[in-house]
This record gives sequence, C-alpha cells and structure tokens, in this order.
Amino acid sequence: MFILQGEQPLHLIFLNTRKSISRRDFLTQTGMLAGASYPAMLAMGMLRAAPAHPFNLPGSGSGKQIIILGAGLAGMAAAYELSKLGYQCTVLEARDRAGGRCWSIRKGATNIETNQPFHTAGFDEGQYFNAGPSRIPHHHALTLHYCRELGVPLQVYNNVNEGAYYFSEGKGPLSNRKIPVREIHNDVRGYMTEMLAKAIDTKQVDAALTKEDAQKVIEYLRAEGGLDVDKLYKASARRGYIDPYGAGEKAGRVADPYKLADIISSGLMDPDFYNVAEYTYELQMTMFQAVGGMDKIAKAFEQKVGSAIQYNAEVTKITNLPEGVQVTYKNATGTHVLNGDLCICTIPLPVLSNIDHNFSSDASRAIDYISYIQTGKIGLQFRRRFWEEDEHIYGGITHTNNELTQIFYPSYDYLGKKGILIGYYNFNEKAKAVGELTYQQREQLALTKGSLIHPQYSKEFETSFSVSWHKTKYNLGGWALYTNDERQTVYKALLQPDRQVYFAGEHLTYLNAWMAGALESARSVVTAVHARVTEQRVQYPTTS
Ligand SMILES: Cc1cc2nc3c(=O)[nH]c(=O)nc-3n(C[C@H](O)[C@H](O)[C@H](O)COP(=O)(O)OP(=O)(O)OC[C@H]3O[C@@H](n4cnc5c(N)ncnc54)[C@H](O)[C@@H]3O)c2cc1C
Repeated sequence: MFILQGEQPLHLIFLNTRKSISRRDFLTQTGMLAGASYPAMLAMGMLRAAPAHPFNLPGSGSGKQIIILGAGLAGMAAAYELSKLGYQCTVLEARDRAGGRCWSIRKGATNIETNQPFHTAGFDEGQYFNAGPSRIPHHHALTLHYCRELGVPLQVYNNVNEGAYYFSEGKGPLSNRKIPVREIHNDVRGYMTEMLAKAIDTKQVDAALTKEDAQKVIEYLRAEGGLDVDKLYKASARRGYIDPYGAGEKAGRVADPYKLADIISSGLMDPDFYNVAEYTYELQMTMFQAVGGMDKIAKAFEQKVGSAIQYNAEVTKITNLPEGVQVTYKNATGTHVLNGDLCICTIPLPVLSNIDHNFSSDASRAIDYISYIQTGKIGLQFRRRFWEEDEHIYGGITHTNNELTQIFYPSYDYLGKKGILIGYYNFNEKAKAVGELTYQQREQLALTKGSLIHPQYSKEFETSFSVSWHKTKYNLGGWALYTNDERQTVYKALLQPDRQVYFAGEHLTYLNAWMAGALESARSVVTAVHARVTEQRVQYPTTS
C-alpha cells in the first residue's frame, strides 16, 4: 500500500486577462507571494517542473452562489475547486450518498432499479466490490493527482493475467473447457509469426526489404512468436506446463499447441476473446485502484465538500432566469426552490432528459439524443478464495462468449480467507437481457454459467449483489456513447453553457467511462465559470 508520489505531466494554465497583468499582480492575486507556492511560481516560468496538476486560478468568486446538481465526482470536484476560490456552493444530490457511479458495494448497500424490489447487500463486514470504476490507468494524471492531494492510498490493479481463462461456450472443438489465456495468446502469436516468416521467406510480402532487413524481421518474428530455427511454431514453455517442473528429475512437460483451425472455429480469435487488454491504451499496465474500494476517492472529496451537499434532494426543474438560475428540488419535507447566480449540472443525460427545464432547443435536443451504454455487474461472495488456492489466479479477467462476458478476480486481499468475484461484467445486448432478470435470476445465471468455469462455485458461494446501471435510478446508463458525427453536433451543444447553466460530467469529455472524465470536465467548467465571474479570458497554451 502506498500513496503515489513523483512527477506528473504538467498542464499549465496561463491567464490572458483583458487588462495586462504584471508578474507581481499575478502572484499577489493568487496569494502566492508570501508562501511562494510551487504551482504559481511554475505558472510564471520560475520553475521548470511541477509535482502534479496545478490549478491555481487568480481572482475570487466570493459572494457568488453556485448551485451544483449531483454529488458524483464531477459535482464534488467542481464544488471543491470553486470553494477554494471563495464561491458559495450548494450541491443537490438525489441519493442518500455521494459518489454517484464511483460506488463500492459493501454490507448494507442498497439500490433502486426500474421494476425491481428494494435490494440490500448482505456481504460480510470488510468484503466489497466496485460496482462502477475498478481501475485507474497510469496516465490518468488528474485522477492520480486528486488521490495524492486528498490522501487516497493506491495499490496496483492487476488487469492482465495470462493465468486466467478463455471459455468458449458451445462453439467449436475447444468449446466448454477453460483454457489458460497464455495458451491461446502464445499459439496465436506463434502461428501468425510463422505465417509471416514463411511469407517473407518466399517473398510474398509486399515490403521493400533488403536481404539484411528481411533477415532482421525474421529474427524478430522468431523471438516474438517463439519459433524454432526452422521458423516453425511448436509448443514452448510460454504456454505453461501440463506437468510442472520441479526438483530432481522433474523437467516438466509442455503440451502441443492447439490447431489454428480449432482456435478459429471455437471463436477464440473473435473480439469476444482476443481483446488483448494490454494493447488498449487505457488498459495497459500499470493500473491502480484505491485501497479498500474505489469509493474511497468519492469519500475523500465528500470529506472536503460534504457540508455543502444536501442529500436526498432530487432536482425536478431547472430554470434560467434573466439573471441567475432557479432550481426546484424535492426532499422528505416537500418541494423547495433555490436561487443562485450560476448552476453546474452533472446529472447524467438519460435522467436530465426527464427533468423540466427551459434550455435552448439545441441543448434540449442533445440531452434527449445522446445515448448511454447498457452495462451490469454482479458481485459474488465466496467463503474461500478457490481461484487463488486451487487455480493460482491473482487478479485479472476470464473472458467468455456467454452472458457473463467477463469474470473479474479481485486484485486485493490476496491469500485472504473470503473474497468477492465480479461474476459478470457485460455490455449492450447481453447486459440488457441480464438486466431484465430478477436479482435472484441474475444470481442463478452467474452461478450456473460461472460453475462451468469454476465448479467450486456451488460449494463455496454465499451471497450476491447485482447492479444494472441502465436500470439504476439517477443514472439510467453506464456512460455516454458517441459516434464521430455526434461529437461534431450534439456533443458540442453541451460544451457551451445554456445561459446560466453549465454542463459537466464524464459525458462531456473524450474520457467516457473514466473517472478522469468527470474530473477533467469539472476543472474545465470551473475554469469557464471563474473566467465569466472574473471576466477573464482563459487559454491553455501547449507546454514543453
Ligand atoms: C460499470 C462501470 C465501470 C466503470 N469503470 C471505470 C473504471 O474502471 N475506471 C474509471 O476511472 N472509471 C470507470 N467508470 C466511469 C466512472 O465511474 C464515471 O465516469 C464517473 O464516476 C462519472 O462521474 P460523474 O460525476 O460524471 O457522474 P455520476 O457519478 O453519475 O454523478 C451524477 C450524480 O448526479 C446525481 N443525480 C442524478 N439525478 C439527480 C437529480 N434529479 N437530482 C439530484 N442529483 C441527481 C446522481 O445521484 C449522481 O450522484 C465506470 C463506470 C461504470 C458505470
């Protein structure tokens, strides 16, 4: 367990005010002369590097009332930064908890889904799973920055595990058996490199290679695919052992590769499976998670801005006034109206779409039009960590072509007594179909299908809790999805304020499905609000 330290890439903020601003004024305004804070000195070019993501805007928002809708990460980060600048923030949150999608399910957690009964988690004390975010890419600098600033300890999240499985249900000669990922990865790499090496040898590749270059490429292919001196792929220890090596005469035994045709016809080269995590920018190791549950990040923000949050306050109407803004909300005591100077709305669009407002037709159309992914997860508590004890699986993901899509193994509490697996994490049509089931049917499905891979399920299972995000009240979707065309039209409509109302959240970034999206969006909107209040023009020049 550790708190991240070290340097992050820097996004300097230069302020280009209408009236020119002297170096001294700048330092005075930012209150930095006495303390000579590192970020402010950096912004003035007095230092060359920064420890993190500085965000020191000059000027004060004192006396201005900002109403923030939603206490997810975007809403709380906005409140946190605005409060530093002296604004009076009120955050209206419909739920009885902060964090929104940044939610870890522990004993006693509840959820409300469309057409489902009230639902409470019965996990043991100390057990949890992340129903929303579970991993942080190492290049999501702003997420890591806030973890450092707010003191949230991080640990490595093991996203890539060659010891987890591929399980193709009902398809081809390799179906219905759990196959270690390393076997398929190495066989596919081996066959592909063998084909290419042969093609280069017989000059069938259209590349202007000298003889020496071709030889170098062949050497590379041999190393990449584990080919023998004849450039043929044969079994190697990269696939693991069927008889393990050990002391004395135990040299170990390696199995023959699968036939390429069998791998293909079993669907194991389909995107369902051959979606190599470490190739995707966001999923490349190193990845992180908050120690003790990802909601620790939300809780750290809540500690800073909790006094500004009104819980159980469901916004029902947003009205731009000629000057200022009016928000109507209801809570246990009735319907209330709140007036402010400006508003930041972080309510997810499928929810906002059902709220009364007087926005422009462009904004209104965008809110109604942008679609969100259907996605769901189930946490299954087991009395024994059989995946570790019996199968040597420590973190990582098993992929299947059935409704489960993925099984996530916890990258925490290794070698502990009990544990929670994410028994499915699915999307789109599969998530839709599973979301239609009752909680009990979802559990049954996760157990039945999961038992095909881990027969230990039936003996070791204790309790479950599932979340279908597209059916979950106050979210109604996993995250925003855009086509390229929509990025040019409806997306842009919400990047502008609608008179006194600014829109923020993961949906207003290119970081959809990431906490970093919520945080980047919060900073972007805080910058815009503050520029408007202090009448500054803000630019972000590229930095070296
Ligand atoms: C299944 C899943 C997996 C994910 N995995 C990852 C991951 O591994 N890593 C990662 O970084 N990110 C991940 N994310 C994305 C991340 O969780 C989100 O991008 C981020 O939490 C969004 O924050 P937000 O503040 O924009 O929205 P939200 O968290 O949705 O906040 C919106 C808030 O508005 C409130 N609200 C709604 N309606 C009203 C109303 N009428 N009145 C008042 N308040 C209202 C809600 O209750 C909520 O608190 C995942 C998300 C999901 C769903």
